[in-house]
Amino acid sequence: MIEISSPVSNLFGEKSKFTQKLKNFGINTIYDLLNHFPFRYEDFSHIYKISEIEPNQTITIQGKIIDLKIHRSWQKKIFITEALIKDDTGSIRAVWFNQPYLRYVLKIGKIVNFSGKTAVDDNREIYLSHPVYEVAEKNNETRHTARLVPIYSETKGLTSKMLRYFIQVALKSLKKIKEWIPKEILLKYNFPEINNAFYQVHFPNNLSEAERAKKRFAFEDVFLLQIYNLKQKLSLSFEKAPKIKLDLDWIKNIIKQLPFELTLSQKKSLWEILQDLEKTKPMNRLLQGDVGSGKTIVAAIASLTCSKQGYQVVLMAPTEVLAIQHYETFKKLFNFIKIKDQPSLGLLTSSTSKIFYETDLESKISKKQIYQEILKNEIQIIIGTHALIQKDVKFSKLGLVIVDEQHRFGVNQRAALLNSKKYLTPHFLSMSATPIPRTLMLTIFGDLDISIINELPKNRKPIITKIVPPENRLKAYEFIREQIKQGRQAFVICPRIEKTVEDVESGKVKKLTPREIFKMEIKNVEEEYEKLSKKIFPDFKVAMLHGKMKPKEKNEIMEDFKNNKINILVSTSVIEVGVDVPNATIMMIEGAERFGLAQLYQFRGRVGRGEHQSYCFLFSDSNSTDTLKRLEAIVKAKNGFELAEIDLKLRGPGEFFGDKQTGFPDIRAKGLMDPEIVKASRESAYWLIKKDPFFKKYPEIAEKLEE
Ligand code: ADP
Ligand code: MG
Repeated sequence: MIEISSPVSNLFGEKSKFTQKLKNFGINTIYDLLNHFPFRYEDFSHIYKISEIEPNQTITIQGKIIDLKIHRSWQKKIFITEALIKDDTGSIRAVWFNQPYLRYVLKIGKIVNFSGKTAVDDNREIYLSHPVYEVAEKNNETRHTARLVPIYSETKGLTSKMLRYFIQVALKSLKKIKEWIPKEILLKYNFPEINNAFYQVHFPNNLSEAERAKKRFAFEDVFLLQIYNLKQKLSLSFEKAPKIKLDLDWIKNIIKQLPFELTLSQKKSLWEILQDLEKTKPMNRLLQGDVGSGKTIVAAIASLTCSKQGYQVVLMAPTEVLAIQHYETFKKLFNFIKIKDQPSLGLLTSSTSKIFYETDLESKISKKQIYQEILKNEIQIIIGTHALIQKDVKFSKLGLVIVDEQHRFGVNQRAALLNSKKYLTPHFLSMSATPIPRTLMLTIFGDLDISIINELPKNRKPIITKIVPPENRLKAYEFIREQIKQGRQAFVICPRIEKTVEDVESGKVKKLTPREIFKMEIKNVEEEYEKLSKKIFPDFKVAMLHGKMKPKEKNEIMEDFKNNKINILVSTSVIEVGVDVPNATIMMIEGAERFGLAQLYQFRGRVGRGEHQSYCFLFSDSNSTDTLKRLEAIVKAKNGFELAEIDLKLRGPGEFFGDKQTGFPDIRAKGLMDPEIVKASRESAYWLIKKDPFFKKYPEIAEKLEE
């Protein structure tokens, strides 16, 4: 007996070519295998009598092989296999081309099922053309014939036929899986029990059975998500947060001093946040706003409110570049506006630690010192990267945790920060520009309250976006030249750093052969930098930026770019999130088809942040219509939400959430999009939490949530 978590090698052995095939396909465990759901079924369920058969039917028959011949056609050199099959109503011929090995499978005297299409030959006789065959077993159990036959997505030499075989073997030797969905829920929605569900989704007796099994799988993950969200909400409601009093006049005075007027949705979001901070229930809020919509200033004002009341604030960014940028923004703001008791500001990343207090007083201090200052509440606002989540970093009075682009942080990291409390739970604000369709947002972030900034600051000109075919490349370069001459700056984004393929997950780097590179023509930062700096724009200052450079180097280059000492910055996707250089007006993206839509959207958001008209050029050598469709979505979409909807439609929910295995019929992820499933899962989660908030009766659910 094997477990659902066992590796597939348990089926046929590590060395078996079957095992290898499955692994190549990304199927590593029995769980993976059983979750490779069919995308449709072929109906071979009715067994016809031979006398009933008509031409051009798709049918299954069962009969005895009474004759078997193999010969070569005389003009062409192909093998023809012919079998004569008989049941108690008559006989029929079956014909296959080029499958001489059939003689080893189809033996005279055997009872065999045949499924396939009927045809008519020159003598007007009906025969079976290339039928699928399956030797009838004693118990009459079949997988390829005489039933609803599952059809799987096939690639890389893994056929539906093999998959059926593997899955049937797996199901047969599988130890019974423990049901984890409460039976009341199964009953209410008519979902099959888990072991049956796996059978029924792969080898259903009828289509409605398959449908119900699929529904169950679509329900599973959404249900868990809803339980998780509810649970999160519930446990927060037991915790106490510091009450951060709101001084409206004081806030108004700050807003009045800003160099710009806040947009209506910035004001509204800020108001929602400030009201939450006044409560003793910990805030758990997502500030969602398109790139460039001005989330930082909202976070900054919320931070000031906290520090004024003597509470500390942590602002965490996903990259060092971004952390430094936030630090600089806050610094500038504090220099600009006049408030009494200006808070001191700290910066902590893996490579730098700095402290800024009072106007223009900044000093570098050691890590050890900064830990002490934080502990003594001498630093009120601390900005940094994940370097902040370390046991050495202890706060004395943490009031607010802000996480920028939180999808880059794991749930655990987030919990670690929240737990750095002594007696009170800090308020939590997460900021994100990742476009997610609204409906999904409510399901996925069901535990968070949401504030939305749905407008850009006034006077922003829409970014002009163009897909540039290879023949217009030189024209685009000319255009960039003109812009730079007028004082503007440009980003050039390439998919790769060097001539290697990086496997992001394993961290392994594979060197490509020249041939592979030639074939792939992936633009890389190093070569592009060489080309642009030496050949195309020798008269301009060109620099490059990528993730393998030392933090110090990176920071210096960003600093120079910000100060317009660099005209063109060639970069990888490190530039993706949050970087703010208002004077840059050109975003040029090489190999655009290699990036996801959300990512491209983020890149484009790096420009169009100042008063000047900005441009985004998408370069792609691909002429597949799918690629063009995707890229056109960027050109057309009016905002991030709209783009997300399009992206979701084009790619399906599986890929939208980063599941790389394309072609998988992703039943589970589809549940997120199915209003009926979402409703059922929400109701079930409420019911469960109300009945058994600590899963005493349902330890399996607690286990699943852990996973
Ligand atoms: P994001 O929401 O993508 O994080 P930022 O907070 O970086 O955007 O803001 C983008 C730019 O817009 C910054 O340069 C910021 O100073 C500016 N900005 C923010 N709010 C306004 C506003 N109401 N009017 C004009 N400019 C603004
Ligand atoms: Mg930002």
